[in-house]
Order: sequence, then structure tokens, then C-alpha cells
Amino acid sequence: MTAPMALARPSPNALWEMDRRHSLHPWTNFGPFEREGSLVISRGEGCYLWDAEGRQYLDAVGGLWCTNIGLGRKEMAQAIAEQAERLAFSNTFVDVTNDPSARLALRLAELAPGDLNRVMFTTGGSTAVDTAVRTVAYYQTCMGRPEKTDIVARDYSYHGSTYLAQSVGKRPGDRVPEFRYKEEGIHHLSVPNPYRRPEGMSEAAFCDALVAEFEALIARVGADRIGGFIAEPIQASGGVIVPPEGYLRRIWEVCQRHDILFIADEVVTSFGRLGHWFASWDLFGVQPDMICTAKGLTSGYVPLGALILSDRMWEAMAADGSRWFTAGFTYSGHPVSCAAGLKNIDIMEREGLLAHADRVGGYFEARMAALADLPLIGDVRGRRLMLCVESVADKATKAVLPDEANESKRISNAAEAMGLLVRPMGHLNVMSPPLVITEAQVDFIAETLERAIVQVTDELVREGFR
Ligand code: PMP
Repeated sequence: MTAPMALARPSPNALWEMDRRHSLHPWTNFGPFEREGSLVISRGEGCYLWDAEGRQYLDAVGGLWCTNIGLGRKEMAQAIAEQAERLAFSNTFVDVTNDPSARLALRLAELAPGDLNRVMFTTGGSTAVDTAVRTVAYYQTCMGRPEKTDIVARDYSYHGSTYLAQSVGKRPGDRVPEFRYKEEGIHHLSVPNPYRRPEGMSEAAFCDALVAEFEALIARVGADRIGGFIAEPIQASGGVIVPPEGYLRRIWEVCQRHDILFIADEVVTSFGRLGHWFASWDLFGVQPDMICTAKGLTSGYVPLGALILSDRMWEAMAADGSRWFTAGFTYSGHPVSCAAGLKNIDIMEREGLLAHADRVGGYFEARMAALADLPLIGDVRGRRLMLCVESVADKATKAVLPDEANESKRISNAAEAMGLLVRPMGHLNVMSPPLVITEAQVDFIAETLERAIVQVTDELVREGFR
């Protein structure tokens, strides 16, 4: 116990200190955190954030790929407040529901591709993925195939932070020995990263090799054991990886041939980030059996995730009428979260934000592509409002800089000092701004990031890293 805090609004420094002393931050290295503490953010509007000292930043990170309609919308606050007043909570277990939960389930069924018409709400992306992976075994068992429960995922994928979601995910740095992961019944395929494909191989041959690897895995393990495949259409936290042309559709066709359920983890790629409600069908021509979504579903105003599954799966699971689906969360179908989800969709439709994201996203791609000419930048990749730059020691060999160079963190620090937030991740700096971003703001991002990269490149040269 510590002494009680004064009730007056704490100073910026007091906030920084109370957080440094008492918060256990997610995804954090505790050493530097104890020394340096955190940037305290106090306010947000549109694409901008203000810290506790009043400094303004353009948030090109979009929260964490999530503030799609932009921050500070009174309508959202009102919808949330009205629902909290009318009915702040009611569970959706067994045979109870509530107005916003039922209405949002219908809206998602309307927006999701094909026969994806059944929605289970979750608390976020991880719990949607966790439930989807568990549902593979449930469905296959209902189909009389209780052994067909193995899951295939890919290297460099990120699917969330529950035990099961993190076990299907496989970003190399996340697999620290201090934590444990489920290994049994989970297989990983190579990452479909065209930039890092084998030297001298064409992109088409690379795609053939990736599909062949999946087929070889099925032949080795047995189609009677593999129940599901999970993929982010564009891998987000693993490095904004856009797979080779045709890859996703060909993998889906393999899944169909072997009755393997295709789970699209669209936690990042849905709700306009790529200019569509969902990317799997509209961009990649894949009709998933299950879609996981979260983030842009409420634009981060309140937590909410959803698992959307097909009529085909529903009919098989509901057929005998006596089974219990023993999965779900206290906050599944939370009325306040669902009210926020409904208002978020209304705003996106009314303001034409998907079309705007597509248009301004095209401009963002073009502006960022120019950064590939900088000596430090090996690759600029992504689509629409989901882009990154990758730093290299040598453009020809694509060799990365040593960890001590710490270049992406230094680039993000330099950008932060210039009023721009970008996200450092390994050797990347990642961006996923709100969909409401304007061309002028895109210009600011491109110019500021370039200045930050040039500044850090000069430092690296002076320090002998280049
Ligand atoms: N899937 C993907 C593709 C993600 O990017 C994330 C979060 N970054 C998750 C799942 C997990 O979502 P959450 O943090 O809301 O649990």
C-alpha cells in the first residue's frame, strides 16, 4: 500500500510517476520501462493526440491499428452514454439477449461476405481468435471427425495474447522461454513475405513453393487430422506482409479440397483499414468459414471483438439440438460495446469512409513509396492505410542492422520529437492512421518520417553502423 493520492488532478509528472511505479504494461521490457516510464496521453481528436504536457502529435499508428473513425467524436460518446444509462449490462448466455447485441449481430451478418451470418461477440481480438480455434474442434466433432482438430498457421503471424491465440501466432521475438506455448497439434508454414523470398526466385515461383509446402504438410500429417487454417489476409504485427499475388486464394482452395476450415483473422484488415468492410473476399477472393474481427469494429472507443461464422458451420453444430457450446465471456454482447459498434458503422457509412480510405490510402501508398530511395530503407510495403518501412544495413544483401543500432526505435523517437507517432517494430516502422486522415496529413507523415530517417541515418553513419 502507498499513501493515498490527493484528490486534485495530478500534475503530468505525478501521472508519469504513478504509472511508472504501479503499472504493469503489456508487451514491455521492464528494464527500460522502470528507468524511463511512459508517454502520458491525455486527449485525442481526429488523427491527433495530446500528451499530459499539452504537446500535439499526429497519430499515424491509429492507436493500435484501431482508431478508424478518429478520436473525440461526440456522437460516439453520446451513443455510449445513452446505452450506459438505459442498460449498462446484460449477459447474453443461454437464452438472454439485448437490443444492441441483436442489432449489431444482424449488421455484421449483412456486411460479412457470403453465408457468414452467425456472430459471437467477444472482448477483443484475442478472445475472438481463441474461440475460433476452439470452434474448429467443436465443429469437426459435430461432423463426426473428432480427430480432425490440428491447426495450421504461419510464421510471423500475430493472433493475440491468450494462451491459445499466442500459440497459433509465431512472431519470432514473442516466443520467449519464460512463457509456455501449446505446441501439440499446431503447425506453422513459412511466412509469405515476398521481400525476403529466396534469392533469385520469382514471386510466382515463391507462391508455388508456399502452396506446395502446405500440401506437403497435409500429406505428412494427414487431412484427417488437420481441422483448420488461420491467417491474417495481410500480416499486421508480424511485419505488414502482403502475400504474393494469388497466394491466399490458392491456400483457400487447398483448404476446401481437404475440408479444412479457413479462419480469416481480420482483427486489423476489416472495417475500412484496406478500404473494405472485410478484406478476405473483397481483396483476396477468399470466402472464409470464420472471420475474427475487433479494433475498427468500435474504432477503439470501447473494447469489442466478434467471431462471425458460416451458416454451413452453424447448421452442423446446431443439427442435433442437444449440444452445449461451452465458450463465451461475461462481456459477450455487452450492450454498451455493441451500441458503440452500431454507431461506428453508421458513421462509416454516412461519411463514406471506406471509399475515402481507399482513395487517401492510395495516396499514402504513393507518398511512402518514395521513401524507398533513402539509403537506410530496404522496403516500403503494405496496402492503403496499413504500411511500413523496413530498414536495412545494406540494400543489396537486405542484411539487417545489429540490435544495438536500435534504428527503428530511434526513428520513432526522432519522429515523436517532430510531432509524429509511428510504431517501431523490429527493423520496421509501422503506420495505420485513422481512416479520416487527409492528404495534407499524409504529406506531413511522409515529410516528417523522411526527416526522422535522414537524421537517424546520419547518426548511424557517425557511430559506424553504416
Ligand atoms: N489478431 C490480430 C491480427 C491482431 O493484430 C491483434 C492485435 N494486434 C489480435 C488478433 C489481438 O487482438 P486484441 O489485442 O484485441 O486481443
